[in-house]
Amino acid sequence: MTLAVKKLNPGHVRLLVLTPEYSDFLWLGALLSRDSEMEPDLTWCPDLIDCDDLIRNTHFDVILWDCVFHGGSEDAFLQYLSVSSNEKPVLALSAETASERAPELFANGASDYLCRQTLDHWGLRRAVRCLWYRQQLSESAHGQLGREVASGFINRDLFFDRLQQALLRAERASQRLALLHINLDDFRSFNESFGYQKSDQIMLKLAERLRQNLRRVDSLMRIGGDEFAIIIEKVEDSLDITQIIRKIVNALGESLSIDGQNVVVSASLGVATYPEAGDSPENLLRRANRAMFEAKRDPGTSYRFYDRQLHITAGYQLRLEADLRNALRGNELEVYYQPRIDLASEEVRGVECLLRWNHPERGLVGPDEFIPVAERSGLIVPIGYWVIEQACKRLQECSELGHPGLVFAVNLSFRQFHDRKMTETIFRIIFNANIDTSLLELELTESAMMHDPEYAQRCLRELNQLGISFALDDFGTGFSSLSNLQHLPISLVKIDKSFVQELGQSADAEHIIRAIISLAHSLQISVVAEGVETEGQLEFLRQQHCDEIQGYYYARPMPWKDLVQFLDNRSQSACLQQ
Ligand code: C2E
Ligand code: CA
Ligand code: CA
Repeated sequence: MTLAVKKLNPGHVRLLVLTPEYSDFLWLGALLSRDSEMEPDLTWCPDLIDCDDLIRNTHFDVILWDCVFHGGSEDAFLQYLSVSSNEKPVLALSAETASERAPELFANGASDYLCRQTLDHWGLRRAVRCLWYRQQLSESAHGQLGREVASGFINRDLFFDRLQQALLRAERASQRLALLHINLDDFRSFNESFGYQKSDQIMLKLAERLRQNLRRVDSLMRIGGDEFAIIIEKVEDSLDITQIIRKIVNALGESLSIDGQNVVVSASLGVATYPEAGDSPENLLRRANRAMFEAKRDPGTSYRFYDRQLHITAGYQLRLEADLRNALRGNELEVYYQPRIDLASEEVRGVECLLRWNHPERGLVGPDEFIPVAERSGLIVPIGYWVIEQACKRLQECSELGHPGLVFAVNLSFRQFHDRKMTETIFRIIFNANIDTSLLELELTESAMMHDPEYAQRCLRELNQLGISFALDDFGTGFSSLSNLQHLPISLVKIDKSFVQELGQSADAEHIIRAIISLAHSLQISVVAEGVETEGQLEFLRQQHCDEIQGYYYARPMPWKDLVQFLDNRSQSACLQQ
């Protein structure tokens, strides 16, 4: 006790004054200045963002808080103040009488309350002194227990340093970067019900779980008693961030077990991206922090981007992903078929299976919109198998309907190679469907194989041994040359439609197409030109001895029923001509 009293006298009480009005700050300073014993040292903070910096980096004894100063919710702000200041006493100030306001503010963590209307220098000094004494007593009793127990922190300088390094890397590589600021909601009540040590265990367990959901390049740091920062590097597009947010939100939503007791936490996530939200660590952290405060307004675990447009995009992508999950279950996906015509005989050689989504509200959604979402979320794996199943089923039906021998081509995404059971699953599908495997063709892009060339090669070989053939899609847009692909079991290349559509406008396109066709033929590989829309394009391709044509000129992708009709019509007119 003597120790505490000694510490108090002579004193220097450090006060943080949170009020938007400078005149209020001056007024409060004047009321306290008459106390020679206390020697108050006041810091004015009119801005939410500076508030965070100040609270975390400067030592204050008491926080004087004008209740109009908050980021959306008084309740959330008080909780934030309490945790980020390491439980410094908060003296709340507002216009209403104590009986009107104090009970709620006390319940949310304010240490004392004063009504502005009746405030005089005695009242203010008494309240500040009281809180100051109490604070010093409790600090001398507990020592720095709270801080020490909350281990696993990384120091702020180190954090800024890491962020700075990551920003430099992003700038050099012209890549984007995202900073996530995660603040647990209502952590004070965990401290109250479990005590510091157990609450700290919650944080450690959460850290572990979050880490499991991040990529190796991402770094997770605990930057406060109840908060984490995550630096996400090598961001290609907003989908990368959206996927990480989805994983984090899911990880936070699972309950944790502390001493056999199940605990569920909720948190607010603020996201700031480089370059949209600035290029300095300070700006990025401030903006992630501001976004985090906005997220606090929403109940439960929620996120906000500093950049509004990104926020909208992420929300859209996450909804799309949830809808897509339902689509697969709810029979909203459909396969369309686009015929491929043999140029020499003008006969239909096969069809490409193209996915469509009959969205209950938005109507028909094209694959360019949802395939990227399906790929990033991993949903492409079950969806891809479903398309192969459909193709096998229709292949069978087609020959029963009098059109045997048509090749059914299915697009295979490179993400499907991530599924280590891919060959096994495809084998099971074709085995069950009992089809002639030589009529199934899988279309791949170069990027699918470049990801892990050895593994891709092995998969292709295994599937090829089952009789399945492979086509190289979008050829000409990637980097590999045909001779590089010689050792792969590829029997067909598809010239990308961008070249076909430049025919007649660009001499380069003509040269490229000519070169692809002659090289492919020298390697006994057939060529399909995609995106053929005009007679002129068709004529050029015919002169170059292109093998097959796919494009609106002959037919657009169509539902199964229309395809059957299309095939029937063509066989009838072929009969008539004979
Ligand atoms: P892709 O494999 O290059 O498919 C050809 C695309 O070109 C199709 O677009 C087709 O409708 C379009 N097309 C065909 N002829 C013409 C033409 O004359 N003019 C123009 N402007 N376009 C033509 P679609 O159906 O929108 O599919 C887009 C992409 O989505 C496909 O490009 C493919 O990469 C992907 N995709 C479609 N279905 C699947 C699927 O089941 N699985 C996977 N992984 N990807 C799929
Ligand atoms: Ca294709
Ligand atoms: Ca293509």
